[in-house]
Amino acid sequence: MAEMRDTHDRRIDYLRLSITDRCNLRCRYCMPEEGVAPKPHTNIMSYEEILAFSQLAARSGISRIRLTGGEPLVRRGVVDLVSQLYALDGLEEVSITTNGLLLDKYAGPLFEAGLRRVNISIDTLDPKIYKELTRRGELEQALEGMRAALEVGMEPVKINAVALKGVNDDMEPFAQLTMDYPVHVRFIEYMPAFYEKNKDDFVSGEELEARIMALGSKSGAESPGGAGPARYFKIPGAKGTLGLIGSSKGHFCDSCNRLRLTADGKLRTCLFSDHEIDVLPALRRGDPGDLLKLIERALEEKPKDRFAKREGKVNRKMSQIGG
Ligand code: SAM
Ligand code: SF4
Ligand code: SF4
Repeated sequence: MAEMRDTHDRRIDYLRLSITDRCNLRCRYCMPEEGVAPKPHTNIMSYEEILAFSQLAARSGISRIRLTGGEPLVRRGVVDLVSQLYALDGLEEVSITTNGLLLDKYAGPLFEAGLRRVNISIDTLDPKIYKELTRRGELEQALEGMRAALEVGMEPVKINAVALKGVNDDMEPFAQLTMDYPVHVRFIEYMPAFYEKNKDDFVSGEELEARIMALGSKSGAESPGGAGPARYFKIPGAKGTLGLIGSSKGHFCDSCNRLRLTADGKLRTCLFSDHEIDVLPALRRGDPGDLLKLIERALEEKPKDRFAKREGKVNRKMSQIGG
């Protein structure tokens, strides 16, 4: 099987693929109230273009693709896309990151299409705070989505919660969630570079770890599949785990394994770098030779860590990158 390595000798086998910049929520830490002006449809990759890129990437060494957005489940035809991705040569796994609101409807069809791993973003288990934070969402609908994913047999089901002051200081409800359901709740350090307005709401990874331990959790719990950047903890007797993803220290850059492709066809070499390689023209020309050169360029230009070559603040909103 083909293997890709970047200039820092890291194996790159994972692609985060944003299929839309549109979303049915307006989370306060991700988007302004009025939303982000969506790119015109003509600038967004068609499914044929996404599949053509993915096939080339898979033959070059990408074995896992995570679909993200905006909200990936608002793009029509996403279930067929998952089936078609599974039919590609060399691609082993497709997963999705979603806010879960449409999972109630799509969990069954996605499972049929081959999808097993789902990350659902739920930052609080308080319905009132959830509605304020997302500016429109109903917590119960997201939880229905989570239950639907579990019922159809998806595994692992992970819950991503961005740690924010005043939103999820009390982790007890999430701890209870892991007692009741086999879900893996990961608290994620807020990245104010993407939304400076809320920078005072940042909670450090150290603080999060102390809170998780105060719940009576034991450290060193087994990772629920996949070698990602999270560390896991478990409350004795729980069905699921609690986890922590801290990015402010950049400590998982040494083992960074990923590229990102935005919905408008820009290859991003690092979450924190505005450096983008436009693959859309080569895709539209249907030129695999040129596309391969662009992928190689991304490997050459991928920075060593999140602090390398950074100028100013990140240009795109997280909803236009996909997390
Ligand atoms: N709409 C989907 C969702 O919310 O899961 C997928 C796209 S969303 C941009 C991907 C992830 O990025 C979510 O888990 C979200 O919480 C996270 N995110 C967005 N803005 C963030 C920020 N400023 N800091 C940390 N995480 C952020
Ligand atoms: Fe939408 Fe996800 Fe951003 Fe929330 S975090 S606004 S659900 S893209
Ligand atoms: Fe990789 Fe950049 Fe994230 Fe570090 S910050 S893990 S180099 S994408």
